[in-house]
Amino acid sequence: MHDFRQEFPFFNNHPECIYLDSAATTHKPQCVIDAITHAQEISNANVHRSSYHLAATVTEQYELVRTRLAQLIHAPASQNIFWTKGATEALNLIAYGLGELCLAQHPLWQGNEIIVLTSEHHANILPWQQLVQRINQIRLKTTQDKSIKKLRVTTVSPDMQGNYQYDDVYDAITDDTALIAVAHVSNALGCIHPIDLISRKAHQHKALCIVDGTQALAHISVDVQTLGCDAYVGSSHKMFGPTGVGFGYGTYELLNALPPYQVGGEMIEYVSFSASRFQSFPYKFEAGTPNIHGVLGFGAAIDFIETHRDEIQTTENQLFNYLLMQLSQITQVRILGQDNTHKISLCSMVLTHQHKPLSHYDVLRWLDNANIALRVGHHCAMPLMQHLQLDGTLRVSLSAYNTMSDIDRFIATLKDAIQHLIVENHADSIHADSIDGVIVSEHDVKSVLLPLARQFGVLQGYENIFRQIMLSSKALPQLSADEQIESYHVAGCEVDVWVKYVSQSDSFEAFANSKIIRGLLAILLEKANALSHQQRAQFDFAQYLTELGITHHLSQSRVNGLSRVIAQLSA
Ligand code: PLP
Repeated sequence: MHDFRQEFPFFNNHPECIYLDSAATTHKPQCVIDAITHAQEISNANVHRSSYHLAATVTEQYELVRTRLAQLIHAPASQNIFWTKGATEALNLIAYGLGELCLAQHPLWQGNEIIVLTSEHHANILPWQQLVQRINQIRLKTTQDKSIKKLRVTTVSPDMQGNYQYDDVYDAITDDTALIAVAHVSNALGCIHPIDLISRKAHQHKALCIVDGTQALAHISVDVQTLGCDAYVGSSHKMFGPTGVGFGYGTYELLNALPPYQVGGEMIEYVSFSASRFQSFPYKFEAGTPNIHGVLGFGAAIDFIETHRDEIQTTENQLFNYLLMQLSQITQVRILGQDNTHKISLCSMVLTHQHKPLSHYDVLRWLDNANIALRVGHHCAMPLMQHLQLDGTLRVSLSAYNTMSDIDRFIATLKDAIQHLIVENHADSIHADSIDGVIVSEHDVKSVLLPLARQFGVLQGYENIFRQIMLSSKALPQLSADEQIESYHVAGCEVDVWVKYVSQSDSFEAFANSKIIRGLLAILLEKANALSHQQRAQFDFAQYLTELGITHHLSQSRVNGLSRVIAQLSA
């Protein structure tokens, strides 16, 4: 088997890191790093502007990447590809332009409905939601014609286990459907959607099929003409390439019709104060100096994928089957979308013990401490989590640079974390006095009866601090379940957090779905509830956590989340 790992310098620099988050971004092989360095050190000039030799050479290399990408996804010509800074920008560009076509009653836009799958990434939901709001508002102001229907976004959902019945998708498409926006591969479930069938059905009803291919291209072969979609977008950084580069593919008819999204240099044919003319596609979508070095680096990533395509797929399949086999032996693990037979090497799971959820965030802390990098949460697919009634999942996403021993270590640490949380939860569920030394030591129980902060001064090391924070959670003045409502919800935290000020007692109550966060809240509330309103306003809660030796054990996102809580305590 090809040793992919040795091609990725990241792993030389972090031999201890087990990286299971390739769906967030992939690591970069040496050839990509070399191409970017070469571009910066040797072939640096702007593209398309000057005809001197260096600029012409760089322009040629830059345009060659467009051709290579067109070949990778089997687009009819390089002109069908336009560059963006990512999949998100490509989707926004297409959605903006389609909104304009709708307003202009262009024949490509027929109908009043945009269908999206509930599991779409926010990048493939929000542009459509915005389109609908924008066009409805404009029409409300400008047309008296009451027969024009409002646009709407409708959704098709998987079942509660995360499995799609694709007949539901085909049946949802009708003559009133203007377009369906669908991921080729779901970043939250890992399933590969049958784009060819979806676009065929869409076209039968004169609807467009716009595909978000962001999670597909590093894993499976893509032929946009066989898929039959009208547009397809992706991001270089999920394909072993650099960040800041993405692309959109569109059919001739679509790209020809779409108006520019931004205007400026590069994309013009002629400019004067009386009238200006723009270039044809793809250049009309590429105002300003593009990410030239990024595109050249992406070119090397495309070559890497082309060269290793079969080995990447074989390696990922072997790793993924091994992962699934290992996970199937852990009774607390439930994998979402397990009936989907076509999947990439990505698996989203929830953890439960005796029908109660185990907090993914607490598991994440355990894994993070063992240098295992993966993602928990909503994965930018909040509507899916709302539909599945989950506050998030634990997602493992593999790439060919992972190894069997990565999986072994992940499984062993996951089992440890689960065991640890089960013990902790059990200790929570019985009264502290009756906890025997097998579950949690007497010293631990006593420690929570003492003021929480006092416990931290003497503690050293992450393990001990972590444990003490978990123990502190038991002392949190808890907000009851029926008060965990929108008005007490603190936005911007990693997990759902609610904080309520109780004016009668001049004190706070709070709750969070993660035990660690409950512990941190307990420490903060212990202090806040001991201070007067005026003292709270002046007290530096962030510094307090630092002095207790806690802050440097927290991730930046957790610190950011806590700062929102602190803002409420100090208000
Ligand atoms: N679509 C999917 C399915 C994704 O997974 C992501 C990123 O995670 C995006 C779109 C957005 O990609 P980017 O942030 O590179 O624009």
